[in-house]
Amino acid sequence: MKTCKSICFLYMLFFAFANYAQETPEVVIETQQLSNNVYMLTGQGGNIGVCVGDKAIFMIDDQYARLTPKILDAIKTLSDKPIQFLINTHWHGDHTGGNENLAKQGVKIIAQDNVYKRLSESTPETPKEALPIITFNDKLHIHINGEDVLVFHVDNAHTDGDALLYFPESNVLHTGDTFFNELYPYIDLDSGGSVNGYIEAVKKALILIDDDTKIIPGHGKLGNKKQYQFFLSMLEDLKTNVLAEIELGKTEDEVANNSNITKTYDDLGYSWAFINSEKIRRTFYKSLKQ
Ligand SMILES: [Zn+2]
Repeated sequence: MKTCKSICFLYMLFFAFANYAQETPEVVIETQQLSNNVYMLTGQGGNIGVCVGDKAIFMIDDQYARLTPKILDAIKTLSDKPIQFLINTHWHGDHTGGNENLAKQGVKIIAQDNVYKRLSESTPETPKEALPIITFNDKLHIHINGEDVLVFHVDNAHTDGDALLYFPESNVLHTGDTFFNELYPYIDLDSGGSVNGYIEAVKKALILIDDDTKIIPGHGKLGNKKQYQFFLSMLEDLKTNVLAEIELGKTEDEVANNSNITKTYDDLGYSWAFINSEKIRRTFYKSLKQ
């Protein structure tokens, strides 16, 4: 009897562990080289950009706090120089979660004014070390590692504090969350995001780039101009379709339940766990109805 109990217990323990392992798979940080000195790192959360040089490293976004050691290990394989600056493309936790850890190592954090505001007013409270120490309003140039990096703010797009970064020497663009490559985007209406601002942001970024530009999207695989243009046409299509429904006097629930609005892109697999097709229809309705 006792043996049976022990075996049963071990059996349960094994399944509990197997389930846990399935729910929280080991995150692997993968690195892709995009130019001589610019890299894209993927793991869990927003895609990271890293620019290395003779003296220092410049980093864009930092995913979650628990991943900091793995991210730092991956960066160490690229350069033994210290990380001097970190830019947050916006305030969401999957892009700023490592801020405190990095600041404690002496990394200076830069972000748009509204990122500072939202982080400093958020609940639960953001640790002081995690707040940006340099903020900007409209745009900023960072002259580092042989690059004149252009950092520019777009109004009310994914949030109210989005920044995009363009590396002219490397011809690399980091879009922050103004681009979810081959996925429906999250547009955070509660943080000042809007459908019209989002569309304008993508148009603004497209002016800067050419067919050879490598694009680090906020989420999804490494992209190019063609994919970003297609993403824009998807946004414009959905806007046209949802506006037509609003014109007909349809309610939010009617739009949310009408899968014809998004069919073309649903068929292409744009719906995903966080933003499924119903959610994107609801977001477009809410934003465009305002
Ligand atoms: Zn985001």
